[in-house]
Amino acid sequence: MTTPRLFIIIPCYNEQDVLPITAPMFLEKLKGLARDGKISADSRVLFVNDGSKDKTWEIISDLAKQDEHYIGISQSRNRGHQNAVLAGLMEAKDKCDITISIDCDGQDDINAMDAMVEAYLDGCQVVYGVRSSRETDTFFKRATAQGFYKFLAMMGAEVVYNHADYRLISSRVLQEFANFKEVNLFLRGMIPLVGFKSTSVSYSRAERLAGESHYPLKKMIALAVDGITSLSVKPLRLITGFGVFVAIVSFIGVLWAIITALLGKTVAGWASTTCIVCFVSGVQLICLGIIGEYIGKIYMETKQRPRYIISQRTWEQD
Ligand code: UDP
Ligand code: MG
Repeated sequence: MTTPRLFIIIPCYNEQDVLPITAPMFLEKLKGLARDGKISADSRVLFVNDGSKDKTWEIISDLAKQDEHYIGISQSRNRGHQNAVLAGLMEAKDKCDITISIDCDGQDDINAMDAMVEAYLDGCQVVYGVRSSRETDTFFKRATAQGFYKFLAMMGAEVVYNHADYRLISSRVLQEFANFKEVNLFLRGMIPLVGFKSTSVSYSRAERLAGESHYPLKKMIALAVDGITSLSVKPLRLITGFGVFVAIVSFIGVLWAIITALLGKTVAGWASTTCIVCFVSGVQLICLGIIGEYIGKIYMETKQRPRYIISQRTWEQD
């Protein structure tokens, strides 16, 4: 096997503080891997600017001028992390043999790339980066992130535990993945669906080197909802199950009401009636909301809008 050409894919959104620190680290890693003969010398670091509002794109353009190993593409506007990674993967798939996607904030240990590439050379087509510990995360982030994976699993969305979006994917897998046309993206749940031989490599997660997280609780919840609704219909089944349960309880309640009425023991019963009405209407609204979430997804899918729009490429500039 010839040495594979690697593209390191790095989504960047308002990362002007951290990019100047981490970009040379990625390049050093790339060159190190090439020196060790694991990847070919024409490998690249591909930045995907996700419609940043600060100087991120200027920094990327400058880097591209400094060293030919740096290249960058820019999305026409901010579309979110998942779409940025997808744009990078799709851009890279015909240009390289393997891709490694990684965040640009230095939280994911770049030294895990050695093991990832080695696993590829041993025949794996997908290598998941898995966090071995979360000691550097705040207690809150750790707890919510763990809750996130547990909840996803409970709701029938199988994902690799503690794996985010740090992974190696071969272009072979990307060619097949390109046929997954859905607009609702949840990459970490979708890549396993493509199949092929895979393995995981563990690494410890560090703190962000600079700048701030773009994943506050609100976005994490949104990502979890997206993950569940794009991978599984279990919530709909749970609703049905719950509906059956409530129906049975109601039936018993109705029997009880009729019997007590016939026996002439009708109670004032205002409190119990109110409670039941409140409870059932609350449950119904939640169920409608869940169903609405799926209908919303169908609506977005039927539009078939493009999942990313690339407005600029560093190698196409003047
Ligand atoms: N990111 C992006 N678009 C966004 C939000 C984030 O491309 O709309 C990128 C960001 O630049 C970083 C990665 O996604 O490289 C992960 O974001 P962040 O580090 O803020 O999330 P956390 O690690 O705290 O979960
Ligand atoms: Mg981060």
